[in-house]
Amino acid sequence: MNPVRVVVVGGGFAAVQFAKTLRSKLRASECDILLFSRENHMVFHPLLADVAGASINPDAAAAPLRQMLPGIECRTERVQKIDLSSSEIEFDDGNGALTRLHYDHVVVACGAESNLGIIPGMTDHAFAFKVMYDAVELRQQIVREMESAEATTDPDLRRWHLSFIIVGAGFSGVEVAGEINELVRSSTRFYRNFRKEDVVVSLVHSQDQILPEVAPKLREFARKKMEKAGITMLLNTRAVAATHEGVELNDGRMLKGATIVCTIGTAISPIVQSLDVPKERGRIRTAPDMRIEGQTNAWAVGDCAYIINAFDNKPAAPTGQFAERQGRQAALNLVRVLQSQPTRPFRFKALGQLCSIGGYEAVAEMLGVHVSGFLAWLMWRGVYLFKLPTWSRRIKVGLDWSWDVLFPRDLSFLNTDTTQQATHAYYRPGDFIHRQGEPARVFSVIEEGQVEVLQHDPGASETKVLAVLGKGDFFGEGALLGNRPHETSIRARSAVRLRQIGSALFSQIAGSFAPFRDLLVKTVTRSGDFWRRLPISKAILEGESIASLLDPLAPPLLTKETTFADAVSALNESATGNLLVLDEKQRLWGTLDRGDLYQIITRIAVTSAETRGDISRLKLSDLLIPNSIYVALEDSAQVASATMLDHGISWLPVVQSKDDPRPVGLLRGEKISKRMLERIGQGQPTRARVAS
Ligand SMILES: Cc1cc2nc3c(=O)[nH]c(=O)nc-3n(C[C@H](O)[C@H](O)[C@H](O)COP(=O)(O)OP(=O)(O)OC[C@H]3O[C@@H](n4cnc5c(N)ncnc54)[C@H](O)[C@@H]3O)c2cc1C
Repeated sequence: MNPVRVVVVGGGFAAVQFAKTLRSKLRASECDILLFSRENHMVFHPLLADVAGASINPDAAAAPLRQMLPGIECRTERVQKIDLSSSEIEFDDGNGALTRLHYDHVVVACGAESNLGIIPGMTDHAFAFKVMYDAVELRQQIVREMESAEATTDPDLRRWHLSFIIVGAGFSGVEVAGEINELVRSSTRFYRNFRKEDVVVSLVHSQDQILPEVAPKLREFARKKMEKAGITMLLNTRAVAATHEGVELNDGRMLKGATIVCTIGTAISPIVQSLDVPKERGRIRTAPDMRIEGQTNAWAVGDCAYIINAFDNKPAAPTGQFAERQGRQAALNLVRVLQSQPTRPFRFKALGQLCSIGGYEAVAEMLGVHVSGFLAWLMWRGVYLFKLPTWSRRIKVGLDWSWDVLFPRDLSFLNTDTTQQATHAYYRPGDFIHRQGEPARVFSVIEEGQVEVLQHDPGASETKVLAVLGKGDFFGEGALLGNRPHETSIRARSAVRLRQIGSALFSQIAGSFAPFRDLLVKTVTRSGDFWRRLPISKAILEGESIASLLDPLAPPLLTKETTFADAVSALNESATGNLLVLDEKQRLWGTLDRGDLYQIITRIAVTSAETRGDISRLKLSDLLIPNSIYVALEDSAQVASATMLDHGISWLPVVQSKDDPRPVGLLRGEKISKRMLERIGQGQPTRARVAS
């Protein structure tokens, strides 16, 4: 008889324990076990904070699956789809091709993903703390910031480099805060330009106590000890946005810091999302024996599963402790199914909780006994040493820990060249992206939002807004191509998301890709040269308010929900041919003119007939790109004309103010030109200003 084929999807606590237990119960001739994991190693999450804090080496907390699991076929491939009806999985073979494989039983153990997207800007500016790469990157970052703090002569900048913000004070947040604090403070003696007092480690937590899962006495102990070690606790406080500068808090404060670690936010793994099975808050609901509800040969264990613990009839916690027990018991239940015996419900009494808080201290709740301080720390180390998956890891970690007690932590880091990177960045309204006079480091393309281009003339008290840039526009190219400091400042008008390319990578692309370079050169020379040749016009328009040139809003005003057919007839009836599209709060969402109509039709014409459907019923929200360019009443006519010039357009919507994007009228290029000629004809009060 052919052996039963069991496919395990995942390579974490639950999957490894499942595969090990099944192999110990069934011989290879009875059962083929194939384990698919995205990584070729199992990550021992409880030690990630130690990796970030440089008290152990990364390889000590990552155990290679094929060495851990003899007798099991380990495949480093991502499973793309599980087809429960045909009992097949589809996986990426690493060369881009998808392969299907039949199974007799499948075990879904793919854990959960981290999700920084829950707070604006976190994805761009914070470190997640879930996989080994996160911990290794964080360690690099901590040391890099210490080196930058040593190099700078600006005390504010030094403090920013030495400020570390950790969001979330659950187990992982507390552990990583403790480790960062320990690493940075214990290393200050190797640097000349800063001391322990200059280091700021802040823990931001939305509740009134850290570690909500542990007993109140232990929580209190942990909080006091961490505060004594220099960690600032910001309790009952939520992070609402992250930027290059730091974290914005719900009370409006800006917590500045170069390093942000976000330990909150989990997401359901895509493979679980794609499964059409009963779920509870995204996790797969299982029967008591851990088979997926309604399935006979599909199982779910670990963080991706919603399993009721028969011990207390409560949902099992998403922890490694539970994941391991579930993996083990699901394997035993599968053996029972194959031997036609009744299965058993999942039942487990949690053994306790352990959390290291830095400085050779921990809190522990083991079998009802509460321990804190150094003894708890010894227990923490002992338990995790024992729980490591192989003897070689235990010895490695044991040696690293002994080294850490006797010698200082390792401060070497591999200098990754940031000028070679392409990254994202998020800025809040009012944040400076770069300032006039600063050296050019990145080329930026606006993905969302608007920025304003500002110039500060030496001797002048005011900073002038020169133009407004929006989605798809770019900046930074002039300074990079000319190898000179920025001639203007760029400030976010609304929340802005940028795609940024480091200077070295930019030079490579601009050097080898001629059309791109030509486009950049044209952009650099266009608006700057124009105004240089017309200084009088520039001065006149700077003194001219937009309000005096405004055309009132003419109906109809369209909405995102307006259909294509209705938009076409509105354009036909419109005298000007320039229409505004509003969102549900009556804010400006987009614009529509005849040129847009032509582009929409061309775009639809090249899509497949299936996608096209009934064009007339498509809504503007499906057809137009939002975030149109606009100016505000407080801007000058010069800003408006520079913006039109930069974008090659002849009209612009005008909104109430930068903070209130409700439209108040339209501004046309011809009206601005007419006003300018009138002023020139009247003789120039502004001439003197230009000459000076
Ligand atoms: C920083 C941190 C510290 C923690 N500390 C503790 C602690 O002290 N004690 C404790 O009990 N718990 C702790 N936890 C929680 C614990 O790590 C998780 O509960 C546990 O890892 C869940 O195990 P799992 O097997 O379900 O998922 P995971 O261990 O996350 O493993 C999921 C696996 O599935 C793989 N995978 C996902 N999708 C696919 C796919 N499509 N194809 C192939 N492979 C895929 C992944 O690569 C990964 O190998 C901690 C977690 C973190 C992040």
